[in-house]
Amino acid sequence: CGIVGVTGRQDATEILLHGLEKLEYRGYDSAGIFVSAEDGQNYLVKEKGRIADLRQEVGDDVHGSTGIGHTRWATHGVPSRDNAHPHVSEDGRFYLVHNGVIGNFAQLKAEYLADVNFKSETDTEVIVQLIAHFAKEGMDAKAAFKKVLSLVDTSSSYAFLLMDSQAKDHTLYVAKRKSPLLIGVGKDFNVVCSDAMAMLNVTHDFLEIADGEVVTITPASVDIEDAEGNKVERAPFHVDTDA
Ligand code: GLU
Repeated sequence: CGIVGVTGRQDATEILLHGLEKLEYRGYDSAGIFVSAEDGQNYLVKEKGRIADLRQEVGDDVHGSTGIGHTRWATHGVPSRDNAHPHVSEDGRFYLVHNGVIGNFAQLKAEYLADVNFKSETDTEVIVQLIAHFAKEGMDAKAAFKKVLSLVDTSSSYAFLLMDSQAKDHTLYVAKRKSPLLIGVGKDFNVVCSDAMAMLNVTHDFLEIADGEVVTITPASVDIEDAEGNKVERAPFHVDTDA
């Protein structure tokens, strides 16, 4: 299972598909991308099977400058198009990809989301519906994301990459615990990946994220915050090998 993301590149679709192909070694039973364009068009494409199948489904029509992608190795729910990531909140606002397992997803679903119509059987969908739930109560996207992170129990593992389709500044939100995730730093763009290999065609400079940190990424900035909300300064490391 693998995660990719990009903000600030007109060729976002191709960067995501190429990245997913590089991550296929991590396991796959289904895959998907969500891409958002400057003109307000949003595209969600998911497919059971290999990245080659997803690429065929995407065709030539999906374009945009911000997006997220996922190759899945199912833990909760059969391999299927509905259970493939990205998962979307009922109101259509938030899109989420996730690697790992949420230990207390059933309790969270029962406690907060009794009225929500779920489209999948995954633990992941509970998280994106919960983010939308807190956003509806008045929290901004980052606050809602942090609130949900605080509710996930310590048995859980995750790398989360969240996109707010209403945000005009192409912001991505990232957090991890026990699952790998890196930020790739570019000039006027940034990317996210489970493994640097996925993004060596666009950058060789990467930032590590520590468990508990929350990262806010735009085309021009990467803001890392620790669990207490303090700003973290960290220099990127350079990867010399080629893709
Ligand atoms: N637990 C999630 C699911 O089953 C994520 C699996 C993965 O890491 O690919 O959909």
